[in-house]
Amino acid sequence: MPALRAEALYGDRIVRCFAERPTSLHAMFERSRASRAQHDASVFESRRWSYAQVGDEADRLSAAFAAQGIAAGERVLMLLSNRPEFLTVLLALQRLGAIAVPVGVREQRPGLAYIANQCGAMAIVFDDELAERVPDSSDSPALSRRIAASSLVTLASTAQTIPPAAPTRETDVAVILYTSGTTGQPKGAMLTHLSIAHSALHFQACMKLGAQDRSALAVPASHVTGLIAIVATMWQVGGAVVIVPEFKADAFVRLMARERVSHTLMVPAMYKLCLLSPVFAEADLSAWRVGGYGGAPMPVATIDALAQALPGLTLQNAYGATETTSPATMIPAGLTRAHADSVGVALPAADIRVMDDEGREVAPGATGELWIGGPMVVPGYWANPQATAREFTAGYWHSGDMGSVDEQGFVRIVDRKKDMLNRGGFKVYSVEVENVLMAWPGVVEAAIVGNPCPVLGERVHAFVHAPSLRPDDEVLKRYCAERLADYKVPESFTWSAEPLPRNANGKVMKRLLRTLP
Ligand code: AMP
Repeated sequence: MPALRAEALYGDRIVRCFAERPTSLHAMFERSRASRAQHDASVFESRRWSYAQVGDEADRLSAAFAAQGIAAGERVLMLLSNRPEFLTVLLALQRLGAIAVPVGVREQRPGLAYIANQCGAMAIVFDDELAERVPDSSDSPALSRRIAASSLVTLASTAQTIPPAAPTRETDVAVILYTSGTTGQPKGAMLTHLSIAHSALHFQACMKLGAQDRSALAVPASHVTGLIAIVATMWQVGGAVVIVPEFKADAFVRLMARERVSHTLMVPAMYKLCLLSPVFAEADLSAWRVGGYGGAPMPVATIDALAQALPGLTLQNAYGATETTSPATMIPAGLTRAHADSVGVALPAADIRVMDDEGREVAPGATGELWIGGPMVVPGYWANPQATAREFTAGYWHSGDMGSVDEQGFVRIVDRKKDMLNRGGFKVYSVEVENVLMAWPGVVEAAIVGNPCPVLGERVHAFVHAPSLRPDDEVLKRYCAERLADYKVPESFTWSAEPLPRNANGKVMKRLLRTLP
């Protein structure tokens, strides 16, 4: 484990940092490019790219982007699926010192316009199939460059002089990732070079990763897990990113075998789908050493079934969030089964406090809100001092997760303070969906609750009070689908002619709603 020391950072924080660390996301890639030039950096379908090839392509793209006016500090949206261009575009932006803003490809046009405007993005690079979702000049006037993925090859081939890597400070923002929240509007968590470096070092040390590792990018590259746990971590160790365009269990299992994948991090539902796949039993998965999971708890039955089928696999639960640049806790290797109800222990540079509503630490072992501190915690939300002040205190992020820490340091999550559903690892903040539903003429009240699902954990169910409307689930679904990412669209509805039940303070009683048919 690398040595830690206290450092004064971000003006008013003292954080324990790894003394030896890469200075930027770009530097992590460049070091592996120098030492692993001819080794696989990425694999996609039947093609593979060495570190030298990915580096050369990214260099040429950075020249083309610079010619388009993209410069240090500019925000650039990346509406790109899991594909090789995601990696080269990200690297090209990092070379220029620009700020990458990856956005989930399931985001719809109103959400994209909100994000583009909130961060003042000047450019977007997008999958051609998603062109009609790209905000136009009336939605987002500042968005002056719209670059289709299919044009990147031509753009790169016209590149003239390759610009030198822009100087960056560790506390500069490298990436902004938008997360929803209890207020409904997404907030842009500012991932810095420092926060990313610490997360990559945590994964490297706690999962014992090295240059021989090959990691499957099966979750979206635009989510903190894909971006940090897989991409940044593989660049740090000099390993290969095996890109999975879309998770389908049978194809995924075949790919894991063919590419001799040794590592991945996924949500529990994806492991479950692998176990259900008919291909799983015959596939040679002997190279698969480390199976990280997170986002939601894994049922003990799934842990046991995996242990039986893949005795060489070390399963490790990791808990974290966008605001903590991925992991804050992890299960030490070998202890998953014995501590199946725990998300593990605080990572070396992480500090976890359990706090009550008044901001006081609770008694040892008692339950409270988990506050997370450390160099991997982001310094706040982009251009949003109110939300930053509300959700952070002196460098600690208020997670909204209720939990406890036992005397051995094992952290347990018992509940959520935030009104959020977890649909197979995709977070759905109720208020965002409720706001969309309530904007529909005729809908007076709406409340979102999770319907338990054996595979996905929870599915989105809506209670709707619309006395003058004829109940029609399909119409409301279509309306939501135009405005919300698909996984947020309610899959079932309860139409109510009566107002929704509320408590004395006027809050909708969701606990009661969950017990209703
Ligand atoms: P996101 O910002 O999308 O990564 O979501 C972060 C949230 O996911 C956390 O605040 C938790 O509520 C939940 N979460 C993350 N990891 C775990 C885990 N290992 N076990 C249970 N819940 C988790």
